[in-house]
Amino acid sequence: MPASFEDLLEDPVPAARRVLHEVFGYPAFRGQQEAVVAHVAQGGDALVLMPTGGGKSLCYQVPAILRHQAGMGVTVVVSPLIALMHDQVGALDEAGVASAFLNSSLNAAQTQAVERDLLAGRLTLLYAAPERVISPRFLGIMNSLAERGLLALFAIDEAHCVSQWGHDFRADYLQLSVLHEQFPQVPRLALTATADAQTQADILARLQLNEARRFVASFDRPNIHYNIVERDSARTQLLRFIRSEHADAAGIIYAGSRRKVEETAAWLCEQGLNALPYHAGMDAEQRRRNQDRFLREDGLIMVATIAFGMGIDKPDVRFVAHLELPKNIEGYYQETGRAGRDGAPAQAWMSYGLADVVHQRRLIDDSPADDLFKRAQRRKLDALLALVEAHDCRRVRLLSYFDEASEPCGNCDNCLHPPQTWDGTEAARKALSCIYRFTQHGVAHHSARSFGVAHLIDVLRGKLTDKVSQMGHESLSTFGIGADLSDAQWRAVMRQLVAMGYLDTEGEFNTLALNERAREVLRGEVSLRMKTPALPKEVAGRKAQDRRGWRTGAAADAAKVLEDLDSAAQARFDALKTWRAGVARDHNLPAYLVFQNITLAEMAQRWPHNLDDLACVPGVGAKKLTAYGAQILDVLHGAA
Ligand code: ADP
Ligand code: ZN
Repeated sequence: MPASFEDLLEDPVPAARRVLHEVFGYPAFRGQQEAVVAHVAQGGDALVLMPTGGGKSLCYQVPAILRHQAGMGVTVVVSPLIALMHDQVGALDEAGVASAFLNSSLNAAQTQAVERDLLAGRLTLLYAAPERVISPRFLGIMNSLAERGLLALFAIDEAHCVSQWGHDFRADYLQLSVLHEQFPQVPRLALTATADAQTQADILARLQLNEARRFVASFDRPNIHYNIVERDSARTQLLRFIRSEHADAAGIIYAGSRRKVEETAAWLCEQGLNALPYHAGMDAEQRRRNQDRFLREDGLIMVATIAFGMGIDKPDVRFVAHLELPKNIEGYYQETGRAGRDGAPAQAWMSYGLADVVHQRRLIDDSPADDLFKRAQRRKLDALLALVEAHDCRRVRLLSYFDEASEPCGNCDNCLHPPQTWDGTEAARKALSCIYRFTQHGVAHHSARSFGVAHLIDVLRGKLTDKVSQMGHESLSTFGIGADLSDAQWRAVMRQLVAMGYLDTEGEFNTLALNERAREVLRGEVSLRMKTPALPKEVAGRKAQDRRGWRTGAAADAAKVLEDLDSAAQARFDALKTWRAGVARDHNLPAYLVFQNITLAEMAQRWPHNLDDLACVPGVGAKKLTAYGAQILDVLHGAA
């Protein structure tokens, strides 16, 4: 029996658990979900910060169902990506929840049909993009609903889009404050996976969520293994990573430019992998097709710019690779968070080099933004550089960026293979004083010319190249003082000096330039621990992940089921997948929205003989049991 308004006010938890169980088929809430659901079902405002894959959707879907059942009307979900509303609504439909979306993909008649349902109070959830929500027409509809007490809740997804400091700013989000102004009595829930302090403050201020309770989940994603490597040969490293770890697995590869996306995707295909490109320069239709294929087919690799991914909730993405340094930790964490939502082991891999550091600094310097903004961006880049150059646990650093304390994780490259370090102070002084001599020399000979890292290393190592003799640099006192280190070692020194802010690059040719902080090194005021450049090593293998890398609790057990199927159960699992593919095609939905792999694996493993037993499998709600139960039992017993 649905809970009444009074029940919800008194204690919404029993009803919430019932909905979770009956509608979604899950045995228990995760982490903060229950607290959020209870608070919001009772009409409180909330800001929810949860990592990607943490389970934000249920935080508003369950209160929406509870409030609708109690006669309070519809929940309006503001979501920035119209492309994904279709799937969200499809999934709710599968679970038997009346929902719809309003966006530009609907024709006039379809739009009117949705509006009629909405006005008649038939919908539990309505998804719409911000520009639609703030349109006069939609505000009018909401007014009519509010007057009749049929506007239950606003859920503002991807709420960080309201922050101009963030990486996904959308001007339309700013105007969402109108919701509070026009409908002060309707509770609001803002959700995001981007949680640094500044973004949080922005969300609260701009959406006028002054009274909102904050729910901050742990940002740890223990099943993701972090691995950050220095680039030597980008393609070989990438291919080695994919082949050794992720043959046939779904993955996302982020590249910095459209051209690089296209080239990398084409090249991977030549290597026999199944890769698709995605970037904002492609025509919309092609982009949509590629995204659809990635969501619907198994084992595809999407090579993309960061235009791809927001709202992608494919649960079995096994790796996210960055071919270059991303912009900041928030972006990196959100992008890598798209791996392993199902709780099974997944990897975040990045390759980077000096050129990336220079490039990101340049982007900030050359941007038309004001100084305040640039300073904020530089701080964020520096935090990211500290992460990539770290000698200690990556996860501890990532989490501490989000103000979360933790212990070394045992599931990142640095924990599993602590990097060798050495005292690079002397080498740094040699490099910096060599640059100092260049400038002196240049001025004296009226031949101040550009020089980059390669030339500096030649001089340090005493190599008489054409450029060296042209510039007369063999006569410098620093010529040959660095013959004890290899090219690779010197490159690592330079990269770390630039990353740590002791050395700048200038101009079109990235000429090296001393800065204020370089003096601290030259005067011997600091000592510099440096990372020894790694020899190409095999990526930390599965063994490491087997030790650690499972989620705790229910998700862990479920994920393990997938690996532990015996051959009979595997045959049942395969038969269920074939059956699911048919359903997904008929309903035009990605297969995982019909049932996730983990749910199918549990069915195959437990091998239920009747509907009651089938109903106990996590992920089987009442509607799905009615709709598919008999078919599933047939498949399970036909295949055995
Ligand atoms: P987010 O939006 O925070 O990235 P989702 O809401 O998409 O995450 O949830 C991630 C995955 O976890 C989904 O596959 C969802 O079905 C699953 N999930 C969420 N909450 C639970 C729960 N309480 N029990 C079992 N599975 C859950
Ligand atoms: Zn670690």
